[in-house]
Amino acid sequence: MGINFQQRRDRLRRKFRQAGIESLLVTNFTNVTYLTGFTGEDSYLLVRSDGDLLISDSRFTVQLQEECPDLDVKIRPRTQGIVQSSIKAIEKAKIATLGVESTAMNVAVYQRLTGGLSKTKVEPVSGLVESLREIKDKFEIQAIRRAVRQAERAILSVTAGLMPDQTELQVAADIEHTIRRFGGRKCSFPSIVAVGPRAALPHATPTERTIGESDFVLIDWGAREKQYVSDLTRIFVTGRISPKLERIYGIVLEAQRRAIRKIRPGVSMGEVDSAARSYIDQSGHGKNFGHGLGHGIGLDVHESPRLVDGQKQLLKAGMVVTVEPGIYLPGWGGVRIEDDVLVTRDGHEVLSSLTKELEDSVLSLAI
Ligand code: ZN
Ligand code: ZN
Repeated sequence: MGINFQQRRDRLRRKFRQAGIESLLVTNFTNVTYLTGFTGEDSYLLVRSDGDLLISDSRFTVQLQEECPDLDVKIRPRTQGIVQSSIKAIEKAKIATLGVESTAMNVAVYQRLTGGLSKTKVEPVSGLVESLREIKDKFEIQAIRRAVRQAERAILSVTAGLMPDQTELQVAADIEHTIRRFGGRKCSFPSIVAVGPRAALPHATPTERTIGESDFVLIDWGAREKQYVSDLTRIFVTGRISPKLERIYGIVLEAQRRAIRKIRPGVSMGEVDSAARSYIDQSGHGKNFGHGLGHGIGLDVHESPRLVDGQKQLLKAGMVVTVEPGIYLPGWGGVRIEDDVLVTRDGHEVLSSLTKELEDSVLSLAI
């Protein structure tokens, strides 16, 4: 038995009444994939109380037969745009109240839809599919495990051959290539390879700076296996371990450990964030940790839920979140350590297994 997409759509339907809608036009392509298994784009899914319809175009006819043979599909005529085609389908279904995904619809499409539907009330809603996606089933967890393994094997291979004259850009390209070689489809996002002071930028883009220019490099990377992603960050020591690096690294690692230890069903996102944040605060670096502690991963690299301070939402079994505290010191560099953590029924499981001991992160550079 594979993934039961029908069941996912049924779960979505059960949310309609509370959201005050009778049907939902799913326009977020990732949500369409989640609900149908169809991996193409430019297609909308109309989820009705009594059935579903995927509105697509002729480029995808064969792919749709392969990926979701049981789904009702409307291939729109070449002369009819997707919004026009959706309006026709909605009118035909005589829908009184239609939900639309407010975070996945631009104003122009919204206006054309409301302008074209005289008998349907259009109700912007958000988070309906995203909240379903928060809880991963066993197939999704397996896929994320594969993505973690691919990312880990790739980085071990890349760092084993690291050379002092390699640029951040070359290392990033090497990671991409190696992930594909280990069976991943691609990187789950453009890798961050940040040498020394560049690591002070939490979202550094790779440059011509070379590995040999500093004592350490921060790499934030991930693999997309087919659909699901991993997202990891490690510091690799390419020179000597300075006392400052040792101190900052120690603080970040302890903060991460404290946060991970908190993770179990029923604990709020905010509590997990504050376990790390309060420790970094106490160390005097609170102002150098500007971002949230972590985020959900799945079909997207950043998805619900969010581990941020003040977030009251509770962890549930089946969620997969990153835990990635960091300290960024302009001019010197930054340290971030990121792992992917599954919330289990009675606690958690860290899915990533790469070493985090600074001494074990020392590379002997190839010459
Ligand atoms: Zn990351
Ligand atoms: Zn992340």
